[in-house]
Amino acid sequence: MHADPMHTDHGQSWSPLIADSIGRRYRRGRPWALRDVSLEIPRGSITALVGPNGAGKSTLIRACLGFERLDEGRLTVNGIDPQRDRSAAVASVGYVPQRGSLYQNLTIADHMTLAATARPAFDAGRSIERLRGLGLGEQRSVGELSGGEQAQVALALALGTGASLLLLDEPLSSLDPLARRDFLATLIDDVRGRGATAVLSSHIVTDVEQACDRLVVLAAGRVVLEGTVAEARARHRTVAAGDAASLDVVGRFGGPAGEQLALVRGAGAGATLEEIVLGYLASARAGQLAEAA
Ligand code: ADP
Repeated sequence: MHADPMHTDHGQSWSPLIADSIGRRYRRGRPWALRDVSLEIPRGSITALVGPNGAGKSTLIRACLGFERLDEGRLTVNGIDPQRDRSAAVASVGYVPQRGSLYQNLTIADHMTLAATARPAFDAGRSIERLRGLGLGEQRSVGELSGGEQAQVALALALGTGASLLLLDEPLSSLDPLARRDFLATLIDDVRGRGATAVLSSHIVTDVEQACDRLVVLAAGRVVLEGTVAEARARHRTVAAGDAASLDVVGRFGGPAGEQLALVRGAGAGATLEEIVLGYLASARAGQLAEAA
């Protein structure tokens, strides 16, 4: 064991993404967008970064690329501090931004040429092959593609880098259910096949339930739950709110038919990932209201 994973500069012993008490506040007097966030993302995992709009997901992903300055703490991606060496951090990851990363007037082939110019190791052949497999020929103009097809192009560009760490910022938000499934299938196939690591943010939990083995839930800039999906499911169950009085309640939330439910700690799996996230978000919201009162 090494004493300080943040300072290990040999071998591949560090986790691909380590955050140590990081904080970001856009303006003085405004709430913190991220506060006291500590995370260690294990190599080979696919992590869902979940939380409502404004929770800080995008700020965290952008900080990993050095696009956001941190006010507190330290962060490394692939052992690199993006605050100190942004270009090395960017060059070491495959990034799928929230939207607008493609040039609508250019073809798929043009995008591959641009990507190869930016990153000499870019494997255009493999990306083009992957897209052809989805029926997307390289002479197609990006502006003529559907949202789901454009997302596949953005993903193929990120995967073509061969980066061992992929960061995807809400890649599914504008896609229909079928396109989401195709996107996740492509991602899982590549990441698992290469033993790579991926972090993808989403505010829709059901989408990522099948794809991700780990979960980080952010609420108002803080991590409220982190761990494996299997552990989270094994340690929580959902009961009717009326039956929860003597139980270790995480949070209460409304069920699909308007009934009041409670997420409780304790063995006896039964909670879905969505219920677990809702329970922790409800708990975080109750905490914030109590703090503001
Ligand atoms: P998410 O990706 O989870 O929706 P963000 O990271 O985009 O959340 O935002 C977290 C918080 O930071 C929000 O309160 C948001 O309003 C604020 N924020 C994000 N970007 C900026 C910015 N460029 N300037 C000021 N505030 C920002």
